[in-house]
Amino acid sequence: MDEFALIDRFFASRVADSMHDREDVRVGIGDDAAVTHIDSGSELVIATDTLVEGTHFIAGTPAHALGHRCLAVNLSDIAAMGAEPLWCTLALTLPEGSADWVDRFSVGLLTLANAHDVALIGGDTTRGPLSVTVTMHGRVAPGAAVLRDGAAPGQGIYVTGRVGGAAAGLALVQGANDDMTLLQSDLVRRFLYPVPRVAEGRALSGLASAMIDVSDGLNVDLSRLLRASGVGAELSIESLPIDAKTVERFGRVRAIDFALSGGDDYELCFTVPAEAEERLRRAASTWSCEISRIGETVSGSDIAWREHGRAFSVSDSSFRHFEQEAP
Ligand code: ADP
Ligand code: MG
Repeated sequence: MDEFALIDRFFASRVADSMHDREDVRVGIGDDAAVTHIDSGSELVIATDTLVEGTHFIAGTPAHALGHRCLAVNLSDIAAMGAEPLWCTLALTLPEGSADWVDRFSVGLLTLANAHDVALIGGDTTRGPLSVTVTMHGRVAPGAAVLRDGAAPGQGIYVTGRVGGAAAGLALVQGANDDMTLLQSDLVRRFLYPVPRVAEGRALSGLASAMIDVSDGLNVDLSRLLRASGVGAELSIESLPIDAKTVERFGRVRAIDFALSGGDDYELCFTVPAEAEERLRRAASTWSCEISRIGETVSGSDIAWREHGRAFSVSDSSFRHFEQEAP
């Protein structure tokens, strides 16, 4: 099947059939470029993420899961700005002869897109080693984007959901030796199907002083936020939302390791000024995920993890992904 037929069959016609036609898309897939309407009272928020086989995902990752993931990681970036996702484009580089694969990939991608009322408005399709790039467009009220650099000393540090489960799932996949029953496990699902915290991110605009999504591991990503804000932190290991399934399978020490250094959780990590913490608790009581207060920002640049008051050293070599650092 040539590129035109692929796009038409698995993207253009499916998008056209979708119930979630957005009125702000004037021209979608099919012309030389897409045309969208943006209201004058908004700012555009734009994120791009590329996933390369062997670097960002394991060869043989199910196509449906990859379709989900390439959208989820971009939704997570938009969420981490406190923005509302609107439209996306998809640049797909594919090896020969993969119509079935594209079929499943497009279902994975469009299912998540529809769930968030995001329109796929264009892209590009080329032949070559498998690689997927999504660009996501979102909007916020002027000035309302939540940046990494807004934290000040004396603010609460929070994380949504539970951390470490995705890394535990990856460890299971890597040790699975073709044991397909493992792929059904909850932890593997958490790795394959990250849930971007889109509604929560939007609700945090106006509450959080700084925010980042946890893609590379809580410790690394939180450190980025703290550095950008020019503050340090005091953090407690016992407040970490490690999950029971990870502890059950790998033990508490390894679960903490996964939580701090594992990555791929796509939870939100954010800071909240003391006077807004009660408002946060009330807002979060209606969310579909929990939030955990894992520590506080302090002046200076030291990041101190403690377990029951004792210094806890985070080994950054503790867990390494198959992901390589960008050159
Ligand atoms: P051009 O030669 O103008 O780049 P293409 O054949 O690449 O045209 O694309 C034709 C139309 O299909 C365009 O509207 C483009 O945005 C869309 N398109 C191409 N590839 C994809 C894709 N992977 N996903 C969604 N839309 C795509
Ligand atoms: Mg093109």
